[in-house]
Amino acid sequence: MKSDARVVVIGGGVVGTSVLYHLTKAGWKDLLLIERGELTCGSTWHAAGGMHTLNGDPNVARLQQYTINLYKELERISGQSCGLHMPGGIMLAGTRERFDWLKMAQARGRYLGMELELISAEEAARVFPIIDRKYFVGALLDPIEGHIDPYGVTHAYAKAAQIGGAQIVRHNRVVDLKARADGSWDVITEGGTVRAEQVVNAAGLWAREVGRMVGLELPVLAMQHQYLITEDLPSLKGQKELLTAIDFEGEIYTRQERGGVLLGTYERAGVPWSPTETPWDFTQSLLPEDLERIAPSLEVGFRHFPTLAEVGIRKVVNGPFTFAPDGNPLVGPIRGLRNFWVACGVMAGFSQGGGVGLTLSQWMVEGDPGADVWAMDVARYGDWATLAYTNAKVRENYSRRFCIRFPNEELPAARPLRTTPVYERLQAAHAVFGEYCGLEHPLWFAHSAKEAHEDITFHRSNAHPHVAAECRAVHEAVGLLEISNYGKFEVTGAGAEEWLARVMANRVPKVGRIALTPMLNERGKLIGDFTMSRLTEQRIFLICTWAAEVYYRRWFERHPPPTGVTLRPCAMEYVGLSLAGPRARALLQGLTRTDLSSAAFPFLSFRGMDIGMIPALVGRISFTGELGYEIWVTSEYQRALYDLLIAEGRAHGLRLVGGRALNTMRIEKSFGTWAREYRPIYGPHEAGLGRFVDFDKGDFIGRAAALEEQQSGGALRLVTFTIDARDADAAGDEPIWHDSRVVGWVTSGAYGHRTQRSLALGYIPAPLAAATEGFEIELLGERRRAQRESAAVLDPAGTRMRG
Ligand SMILES: Cc1cc2nc3c(=O)[nH]c(=O)nc-3n(C[C@H](O)[C@H](O)[C@H](O)COP(=O)(O)OP(=O)(O)OC[C@H]3O[C@@H](n4cnc5c(N)ncnc54)[C@H](O)[C@@H]3O)c2cc1C
Repeated sequence: MKSDARVVVIGGGVVGTSVLYHLTKAGWKDLLLIERGELTCGSTWHAAGGMHTLNGDPNVARLQQYTINLYKELERISGQSCGLHMPGGIMLAGTRERFDWLKMAQARGRYLGMELELISAEEAARVFPIIDRKYFVGALLDPIEGHIDPYGVTHAYAKAAQIGGAQIVRHNRVVDLKARADGSWDVITEGGTVRAEQVVNAAGLWAREVGRMVGLELPVLAMQHQYLITEDLPSLKGQKELLTAIDFEGEIYTRQERGGVLLGTYERAGVPWSPTETPWDFTQSLLPEDLERIAPSLEVGFRHFPTLAEVGIRKVVNGPFTFAPDGNPLVGPIRGLRNFWVACGVMAGFSQGGGVGLTLSQWMVEGDPGADVWAMDVARYGDWATLAYTNAKVRENYSRRFCIRFPNEELPAARPLRTTPVYERLQAAHAVFGEYCGLEHPLWFAHSAKEAHEDITFHRSNAHPHVAAECRAVHEAVGLLEISNYGKFEVTGAGAEEWLARVMANRVPKVGRIALTPMLNERGKLIGDFTMSRLTEQRIFLICTWAAEVYYRRWFERHPPPTGVTLRPCAMEYVGLSLAGPRARALLQGLTRTDLSSAAFPFLSFRGMDIGMIPALVGRISFTGELGYEIWVTSEYQRALYDLLIAEGRAHGLRLVGGRALNTMRIEKSFGTWAREYRPIYGPHEAGLGRFVDFDKGDFIGRAAALEEQQSGGALRLVTFTIDARDADAAGDEPIWHDSRVVGWVTSGAYGHRTQRSLALGYIPAPLAAATEGFEIELLGERRRAQRESAAVLDPAGTRMRG
């Protein structure tokens, strides 16, 4: 084995070999893959090999399309068969709700160029004759589905990588990793040490153990998973290959395996495998079969597919494979570690392995993944995703693999985990909570504990009238919102302004002022939206998206502040409450000696002040479009602040308001938010943030590309629509039609209670942005007329929030 390498990839499963192949494809040399056994000996070898394009996240779906399209190229380059079978797939709906869900899936597939076809139950029985038609109401057909041979695919990647110059060493375990001072790694193996400039952890079932070698606790857990293969079915003899199928009600997937059928389940009572430590001697191994555990699914399966009950079971496979808490892969560089990358938690290696390899190789070679990979970026998890948290969420995710996730549904596992000091008070006020990155936050408030429960639905839920009342209070009087669920950083030191001027696109505000700013990558794309609030010359607060804190910290490591400037994450040190509505000023003025008049404390002001006895930082800013104040205190004061505002608020008609109301109000104002309207596939001009990019302040990251975008106008435009909806509103990812063509997609949607309209924000091609008529937005399979608005539907001049 060589003693030096540019990259060492640890793990020769489908993912590690794909990363290796893609690095060679990108032109990198001096690559080494180290595998402790034979290639595929982890979870890859016993996989069922099924693959499909659909995914809850459209960007991951794109990478799945890429993966499936890659196999032919791979066969050509490597000369190795991937055992590709593409009979197409069918998703069977047993209920009306599931059929609605399939309509939404079909609609989402439209702007990804997928040709999905909805069919009746009769048609389903015709194209997929092994079902008993009476259990189904309809189905969705996808021509790009099938299965491959896991061994063939992995060896095809490996051979193609070797043809590209990469080396593969087998039967050699990596036992430790030691960082060198220059950022490279000593990869210590059973067969000697290799110095590697970069290391990729693609160790699949052992990714957690390899992570621990560098002090990381990666949020991955293996689950046991079973499938069985039946004896040959006489009815299949001489017929065209069966479609691959998913039967959601039975939590079953099937495909043809030679003359029989392979049937696997994601059972409710899923069982983790090796929850704390993965044994190193588990090589090319399987687990004892446990048909008892999957019996409820099998019973449904044999009812729904009665011909299967007529033949015996030839083989049962029980094997483990890993999941992240949300079921999407963990990919990317790790904050705090130089030259260390992960590509793990890949639960659908044959749909996603190619896309993961492509993404990671681009990230390593270009410094940027080249696509929007937020949904699988390892930085979406922070320290809160502990071993026990991961265990609870992975089990929940596994058992829900084939369940409908409703747009208003909150999942119960691992809760409550993170709470703010006012949590019990909000609970006593009948808050219905949501969870985001482990933190509880109120979604809306009910009148009683009995009522504090939301029905899950694609339509307007029982929360609708409550949210309406909350919005009315904010519009007519004043609302109190808990706003702790933001990321926060404090930047201090003499060079703070200079550094921020370089990493942010807008000018750093003067002392006592707030500025909104996009953060751009070198390609001029949006990687963040911040408010910069300047308390003193040398002390600036950054408020940003809570979910992206680790992602930002990793970016700031790449563009670190100079000596003398300190960047301090302080998300949970400062918690917040906000007041919004025309009575907000009068309420707050009753509690502080600081003059809050518009002349003394105008819109976008920021300063420290006492609220009663409580020292606070107060910003005059609005995400609702109404007069608003954000009040930040260190956590020990939050309860006192809450009590004070509630007591003082009685005279002003104060009402508690949750995140649902905030969301509809920001959409009425056409205000975007991270991970919805603002993502790394959009430029600031396209996203309507052009006015917050200051080209006159000197150079900053992404300036040249953003200037080019401004001059060319960009390809897309974020716009607001009013939809002629019935009792269901847009939720995100619905296709936007124009003149009977799909031209764009919705990023957010909600019913705007102050303006009494169903609203959506979404991207369309820039040349279409002048049209107001001719648009339709597809809601639950129905194309509803939509009108493009030329400005925010509520107070476009912003007089309410500035007044
Ligand atoms: C029963 C079953 C059915 C499945 N069906 C499907 C399906 O139909 N479709 C689908 O897409 N996916 C399916 N999967 C999931 C699929 O198997 C995984 O997504 C895939 O195998 C993940 O590949 P990987 O390369 O990440 O992990 P692994 O295959 O586990 O590869 C990791 C490799 O790293 C090596 N390694 C680990 N640590 C070290 C070390 N320290 N030193 C050297 N080498 C090391 C291991 O030996 C191993 O070979 C199924 C899984 C199971 C169990």
